[in-house]
Amino acid sequence: MSTDFDAVIVGAGFGGMYMLHRLRQKGFTARVIEAGKGVGGTWYWNRYPGARCDVESVQYSYQFSAELEQEWEWTERYATQPEILRYANHVADRFDLRRDIQFETRITAATFDEAANVWRVKTDKGDTVVARFVITAMGCLSSPNTPRIEGLADFKGPTYHTGNWPHEGVDFTGKTVGVIGTGSSAIQSIPIMAQQAKHLTVFQRTANYTVPAHNKPLDPAYVAKVKAHYPEMRKRAKTKPAGIDFVINMASAIETPEAERRRLFEERWAYGGLGFMASFSDLLLNDESNKIAADFVRSKIHEVVKDPKTAEILTPKNIIGCKRLCVDTGYWETFNRPNVTLVDISDEPIERITASGLRAKGQDYAFDCLVLATGFDAMTGALLKVDIRGRGGVALKDKWREGPKSYLGLTVVGFPNLFTITGPGSPSVLTNMLPSIEQHVDFIADCLEALRAKGVNVIEPVDEAQEAWVGQVGGFANITLRSTCSSWYVGANIPGKPRVFMPYIGGLPAYIAACETVVKNDYEGFALA
Ligand code: NAP
Repeated sequence: MSTDFDAVIVGAGFGGMYMLHRLRQKGFTARVIEAGKGVGGTWYWNRYPGARCDVESVQYSYQFSAELEQEWEWTERYATQPEILRYANHVADRFDLRRDIQFETRITAATFDEAANVWRVKTDKGDTVVARFVITAMGCLSSPNTPRIEGLADFKGPTYHTGNWPHEGVDFTGKTVGVIGTGSSAIQSIPIMAQQAKHLTVFQRTANYTVPAHNKPLDPAYVAKVKAHYPEMRKRAKTKPAGIDFVINMASAIETPEAERRRLFEERWAYGGLGFMASFSDLLLNDESNKIAADFVRSKIHEVVKDPKTAEILTPKNIIGCKRLCVDTGYWETFNRPNVTLVDISDEPIERITASGLRAKGQDYAFDCLVLATGFDAMTGALLKVDIRGRGGVALKDKWREGPKSYLGLTVVGFPNLFTITGPGSPSVLTNMLPSIEQHVDFIADCLEALRAKGVNVIEPVDEAQEAWVGQVGGFANITLRSTCSSWYVGANIPGKPRVFMPYIGGLPAYIAACETVVKNDYEGFALA
């Protein structure tokens, strides 16, 4: 059976772009199929006001090319979405990637042909592409979650989803705006929208923890220092569970005297960013330690927000770091503005969307525009939108009915020659995505090269290996507090989605070691045919 390409890569975000580059370097042919008009994935779609990465830009970047590292100039501590998108476009041009990317095309189905050992990949343009391998690079947070609230179609004004924002931007000047959701996307966009809008009404189901970003322009002397020592920084980052080079204080919060504890929290707070959760090593392992950190953040809200009732509604009651920690610029301060109202809907869901706004707790709220900052069907959503069928015509969505199962987060029993970059069961969303993506891509590219050298056509994980990996992913999840709340990590934000903690929480170093052992033992856990 002749094939069109060695591999079809789904998605031209950071995963898909680097996968294409690596496969080309190794002499494989590949076609990237991308729904958007341009590269960038997450950063192509998430154009809401205030969107920026909350991993520092010098770390949220590729490391496979020293020249790229040296020539690219990040301008801010946390890069904005437009800057990250410019970077993605620069990478596409620099490595001449576009000629193998088919834009504005969605994969609708992928079926493994067992007789020929090939994948037949169907697109929404009506064509079928045949390839030996399918490599998905569809992102973990790329399938927007539109809430199932009655009457959504009745709203007369425009409705925007933060995860699929109009490319021409939205000007809220003089408008009244309703926002549903208070996760990372809302926490970044609310302060900006509030500056523009005549009035902003925020509907909050769950209060969230956020730490200040303290974003600033990058000092050229700092950038020069980073550039002079990039390899060391990247190496250090790979020894950290999140793949980010920040210092983890190995002390326990409960064993540290109160004054010292406060000092350390204040220090991290003043520095800003996600490193706050590394103030002590046991914040996600021990209820008492977690409460100490949570109380510290709660006290900060009351210091900033003037109206005590509003401050109380904004104060999270759950475990800090259980839902993804947010990083903000002026979020709580925004609720001191006279044009911002917070509505607590924690005890009663929104009744319905109406033609002029929405109805909640027996009261009608009117606004011109509705913003859904309601997140994503995370980790499995994008994959399961495609009709992926493996051996015996079995659908991936049936295989994962009780929750996703994978080997290394990269492969699935019954789906030969399918690789899922940052799939469920990989560290992905708990880490700096860029180094995780590069690790996956290198593993896959090396694997394809090894198969070619051995004359092997088909690779597929075996049941025992997959079960053991699923056991490890679940086992690690149960050790931490992170699996204990209703977050998107466990699929709780999507009605009917099985409750399984999806990412691997053992940390990037342990994950890399596991992959290296698999390779060293000649692709242990896989059947090669
Ligand atoms: P999210 O964290 O899932 O937040 C969604 C929000 O919508 C939550 O407040 C949720 O309430 C609310 N919601 C959902 N359905 C609702 C309904 N039917 N009624 C009322 N409220 C509803 O989504 P996100 O803010 O888009 O962020 C998702 C992830 O993307 C983040 O955790 C982060 O990993 C990533 N992200 C990163 C950045 C960054 O790097 N700076 C920025 C944005 C996003 P509940 O909490 O009660 O479910």
